[in-house]
Amino acid sequence: MISAQEALERLKEGNRRFVSEDWSTQTLPSGTRRREVAAGQQPFAIILGCSDSRVPAEMVFDQGLGELFVIRVAGNIVAPSQIGSVEFAAERFGTRLVIVLGHSKCGAIQATVEELERPSGMRSPNLRSIVDRVRPSVEELLKTDLRSNREALLHHAGRANIRASAAHLRHGSQTIEEMIARNGLLVVGAEYSLETGIVDFFDEWDSPPVGSKTEFTNR
Ligand SMILES: [Zn+2]
Repeated sequence: MISAQEALERLKEGNRRFVSEDWSTQTLPSGTRRREVAAGQQPFAIILGCSDSRVPAEMVFDQGLGELFVIRVAGNIVAPSQIGSVEFAAERFGTRLVIVLGHSKCGAIQATVEELERPSGMRSPNLRSIVDRVRPSVEELLKTDLRSNREALLHHAGRANIRASAAHLRHGSQTIEEMIARNGLLVVGAEYSLETGIVDFFDEWDSPPVGSKTEFTNR
């Protein structure tokens, strides 16, 4: 299995192809590829993304069958089943990169902001369970000046929610913490722009690892 950094580079290249409309012919679905992966998979990255119809991970990273292990849930929240899915893929396939993929104009963020501003006593406990996980990222921002700037508030809340999910995954279980400490597992928070198609990998680390020569720049 390739390293987390190689996997990250592969995703960045794929997103560049997507943005420049220069899609790889190798990622197109084909009968040959389908039969090939029927025998087994080796996904090089795990993506925890939002369910939004406009952000399909395989497309925005220009990847084909069998290359990404994708978990999608509204608001890219982290609940036990998401942690379990990441553990499963990382242990079973040796995948070393996990991306939390949020996006601009996320409906789950908007719904949470609206609920905090005007509590409606949301009737569905299922929907509430999503809003409750986004809530801490929004609550703090509503205490600041951002309260009076809706667009900026949503932007910052979206990023805060991605950061929170990435941090939650990094410390969500002993299994994942051990894989980060010993096996080079990397959890990165990223935001997809609906407007430009660009994925900004803005949250690579809790803190830079000692001795790493990696540049922490965003493109
Ligand atoms: Zn969303």
